[in-house]
Amino acid sequence: MPADIEQYLVHQMPYYRTVTDEVDLYEAAYSVRMPMMLKGPTGCGKTRFVEYMAWKLGKPLITVACNEDMTASDLVGRFLLDASGTRWQDGPLAIAARFGAICYLDEVVEARQDTTVVIHPLTDARRVLPLEKKGELVQAHPDFQLVISYNPGYQSLMKDLKQSTKQRFGALDFHYPAHDIETEIVAHETGVSAEIAGKLVSIAERARNLKGHGLDEGISTRMLIYAGSLITKGVEPMAACRMTLVRPITDDSDMRDALDAAVSTFF
Ligand code: ADP
Repeated sequence: MPADIEQYLVHQMPYYRTVTDEVDLYEAAYSVRMPMMLKGPTGCGKTRFVEYMAWKLGKPLITVACNEDMTASDLVGRFLLDASGTRWQDGPLAIAARFGAICYLDEVVEARQDTTVVIHPLTDARRVLPLEKKGELVQAHPDFQLVISYNPGYQSLMKDLKQSTKQRFGALDFHYPAHDIETEIVAHETGVSAEIAGKLVSIAERARNLKGHGLDEGISTRMLIYAGSLITKGVEPMAACRMTLVRPITDDSDMRDALDAAVSTFF
């Protein structure tokens, strides 16, 4: 493995609490190099899961956070001008394909349409990446796998993956874990007691029921971990919850009062 790809290896086992059969299913998908789509709301464990799988499979992981300004060149690569003239620089997708990494495109739907088109020839039997500007066709390394994340809640008709893209992937559903599992995760990640972690999860569950009734998105596991870490640092729980669970997700004063009230029933 060349030195520049080795930096992407995950050396330490990431903490990942298996929720159902996702680890086995992913391993089977990787064994046939099936492109994978991880579906679910933000902050529910998708990124942690890919990190864990990359570690378990012993493969380098290249993660790209996609955004609306991203172009195909940001993924594939571009010519750069320096003192000695122009030279080609591979983008993250080209590096992953060339050297056999798992490439994780986080929120790929955010990127422009031309970006999703470049992944097509990599996600069918051809497994190639055309570097059009350079005039090179990269044949993907046998270890290469493409993984994308997708939040079904965010999509509008204007912004969604096309069927022709979706149908190239196997998909795993991610949700916020069941109460006891999420409690275990929050306690493990923050050091709060199981009792406090359980209360935080119960607050999140109340807020999640308000999704679509004034809240765009529920309180995520990631937010609970923020709250737990502040509580571990000695911050008063009510203040920690207001700051990390309530204020970030709503600007509406009625909703804020309703969520604050939910917090005060537990702390
Ligand atoms: P996503 O990629 O879905 O937005 P992340 O993977 O970043 O979310 O998850 C946010 C945080 O929640 C992680 O950093 C991790 O601490 C925690 N987490 C969520 N689910 C799990 C899980 N099943 N096992 C371990 N940690 C988890």
